[in-house]
Amino acid sequence: MKFILATHNKKKRDEMSRILSPLGFEVYTAEMLGIELTDAEETGKTFSENARIKAELGCKESGYPCIADDSGLCVEALGGEPGVYSARYSGVHGNDEANIEKLLEKMKNIPDEKRGAYFACAVCVCYPDGKVIELEGRCEGKIGYEKIGEDGFGYDPVFMVGEKSFAQFTKEEKDAVSHRGVALRKLVELLRGGQNV
Ligand code: IMP
Repeated sequence: MKFILATHNKKKRDEMSRILSPLGFEVYTAEMLGIELTDAEETGKTFSENARIKAELGCKESGYPCIADDSGLCVEALGGEPGVYSARYSGVHGNDEANIEKLLEKMKNIPDEKRGAYFACAVCVCYPDGKVIELEGRCEGKIGYEKIGEDGFGYDPVFMVGEKSFAQFTKEEKDAVSHRGVALRKLVELLRGGQNV
């Protein structure tokens, strides 16, 4: 069965296809199917609510089963910030540099043992017949003191897992432990376990 991915974030889309395609899923972007999807308004208060808003709209507009993810960074010392506001933390949507700068500024006096954080990823699949699947994945780490590494996107350069930042991980290393990897592998397991793929 064909699935359409509802995201305009190319790096996220690449990660999703990279994880799902080798597991036997036919995943397409809207462009690949010659469809234009409206940018859904992320008005939800949780990652799950936003993932569902995106998947429902993508399914309705395309007529295909639609997979959407909503994800973000939750920092313990900041009471879970930036959370659902991760992409627009600095006030400008998708400005990774400014978002990181704001985060590092807020964390500048926080000691090592209180720098715990996790990435969360909510995945929602909506089918044209009304069926809905919802799942979540997490990845625990720590906020670093400066940007390290060249790869990845978003907060990757300041998210430390062990001694390395996500931006220093290879794609395979990141997929193996990331919040998105965990959530999407749960989805594959669920779909292979009897439900129609
Ligand atoms: P969304 O597109 O509304 O789900 O926003 C997700 C935002 O969370 C992104 O713009 C990033 O700032 C951040 N984020 C989510 N996943 C990752 C990741 O794997 N690495 C780094 N930042 C991420």
